[in-house]
Amino acid sequence: RAAQAAAIRHRPAVTRDGQRRCVAANMQGLQDLDAILDSGAEEVGLFRTEFLFMNRAEPPDEAEQFALYRQAVERLDGRSLTIRTLDVGADKPVPYLGRPAETNPSLGWRGLRYCLDSPDLFQTQLRAVLRASALGPVRLMFPMVSTLDEMLAARKALDAARRGLDEAGIAYDPKLPVGLMIEVPSAVEIAEHLARHADFFSIGTNDLTQYLLACDRDNPRVQHLLDPLHPAVLRAIDRTVGAARRAGIRVAVCGGMAGDPRALPVLIGLGVEELSLSPSRIPELKLDLAQFDTGRCENLAQGLLSLATSAEVRKEIEAFLAARS
Ligand code: PEP
Ligand code: MG
Repeated sequence: RAAQAAAIRHRPAVTRDGQRRCVAANMQGLQDLDAILDSGAEEVGLFRTEFLFMNRAEPPDEAEQFALYRQAVERLDGRSLTIRTLDVGADKPVPYLGRPAETNPSLGWRGLRYCLDSPDLFQTQLRAVLRASALGPVRLMFPMVSTLDEMLAARKALDAARRGLDEAGIAYDPKLPVGLMIEVPSAVEIAEHLARHADFFSIGTNDLTQYLLACDRDNPRVQHLLDPLHPAVLRAIDRTVGAARRAGIRVAVCGGMAGDPRALPVLIGLGVEELSLSPSRIPELKLDLAQFDTGRCENLAQGLLSLATSAEVRKEIEAFLAARS
């Protein structure tokens, strides 16, 4: 099966009924690019840039960030690169930023919240991303959006970065697609409003599950509750996809759920258009995808939305997979 997956990995990802889906890779740094290019990934759906800021003494400046994004764009050779702005805080510490200790770091000053309060740091990154967008297909994505005002403020910061580059005569892609992570329950609830100010959504199921179930993703005592196949998470994905469709924007899933073979027919059935995952799983995912019929996945997913527990969801999925084989 591994050999079969390897053999088809550079082919387009299609379901059994011939529907295309985008299969993308998650990335933390340039060191991942060999594996990504070898995996058959069609693009990079999530570049977690906070790793560029970790394990060093000061933040990378604009020149360093630009050089890095540029290398990624060049090596991806026409495949799109979705750059997520710094998602610092909680499980991603960056000591030199001098951030105060927090009682509830997951609910604290993290992600976009921190960037909006750190305008110099944010402008530096936005300018570097914009400059890279002149060299190939780049998308920009904001993490941890919980209110519409944050999204509008982030877009304003981006406009300011654009003006700065205009004044200096520096090139960038004026049509750079701008999206956000849907990973906070409030963002799901107001998804139709956020969609009016976004070119795409990417659902972060790691944090979305953590926040929906009030369950720390790093606390071993509560791991059994942290289940992305909980009906509450499935309903949240369903509503997000619905809002995205009505607004005519694309929706991806980039959390760990995107790499789970059990979740795959569910995400396809819910209408997710792009899956972004660890490159090591991409060849097998393409092979799995080719066995699923979209209509049957839709029936499965619709049935799951009215269930009460993760156990019931898993049972239905097992039955679905058994009937397929
Ligand atoms: C997520 O929360 O699902 C996600 C993709 O972001 P991260 O795991 O980097 O928080
Ligand atoms: Mg997250």
